[in-house]
Amino acid sequence: MYKDIATPVRTKEILKKYGFSFKKSLGQNFLIDTNILRNIVDHALLTDQSGAIEVGPGIGALTEQLAKRSKKVVAFEIDQRLLPILDETLAPYDNTKIIHEDILKADVKKVMEQEFQGMDDVMLVANLPYYVTTPIIMKILEAHLPIRGIVVMLQKEVAERISAKPSTKEYGSLSIAIQYYTVPEVVMIVPKTVFMPQPNVDSAVIRLTKREKPLVAVKDEDFFFQVTRASFAQRRKTILNNLVGQLEKGKEKKDLILESLQASGIEPTRRGESLSIEEFAALSDALYVYFK
Ligand code: SAM
Repeated sequence: MYKDIATPVRTKEILKKYGFSFKKSLGQNFLIDTNILRNIVDHALLTDQSGAIEVGPGIGALTEQLAKRSKKVVAFEIDQRLLPILDETLAPYDNTKIIHEDILKADVKKVMEQEFQGMDDVMLVANLPYYVTTPIIMKILEAHLPIRGIVVMLQKEVAERISAKPSTKEYGSLSIAIQYYTVPEVVMIVPKTVFMPQPNVDSAVIRLTKREKPLVAVKDEDFFFQVTRASFAQRRKTILNNLVGQLEKGKEKKDLILESLQASGIEPTRRGESLSIEEFAALSDALYVYFK
């Protein structure tokens, strides 16, 4: 048996051997607790016929645990300095593949077609670089990839926003965008002490299970997201004032917005945070006629 990568002693040994220094700008906070890693993998519900995509393997702490519990792991790492390290740490696991690429630029769909043929399912599992948490999750969801879901470590505050319900202070356009595609569950709150170096914020693990079809049917997805963002532009403003301030149209736009609100049964004095996703869908379809 090999010694786990994710212990403080082994991590320090590896970093010292390669003279590796953390880059804060790349969100490099490595996990040094094997129990936490096993827990993350448990929540992904993998089998030996599952594929796993990882974003940012670091020195391979999570990659190793995924390799033990799935058929194949493909990990995207942006930092070239980590490649020789991963070569060594993951040498015992021949079901791992590292791709040296920025996940935001990668053609993940193509990689999935090449790497996960014939597998039962694919999950994205990662301890995300916190500076790009939302763009990464949105890129994966908007690409409509054939994945079963996502299990990721992220900032606790972002996990709360993603899973928030209407009429709470955390509820906003991010909650709607992610709940549109998935069912989110915060499955773990994680202390700072399990990272090296320790991040400034608290962390959580969230599981996003992809819906078979989006939560609501809308005429135009992009426009629906545009309306939800506009509705939360200034949280203290009414839905009417936010939409008047954000949507582009000539002089008559206030009347058209009022008409659309009325057609969808929404009082113009309400605030965006009180609207359910179904109400946003009805409103965006009503506005679409005039504003698209
Ligand atoms: N998985 C490791 C662990 O849990 O210990 C490292 C996680 S660390 C929070 C984030 C990792 O993502 C780092 O290895 C970093 O270099 C990498 N990374 C940062 N931005 C990235 C990007 N845009 N694409 C791919 N990897 C990225």
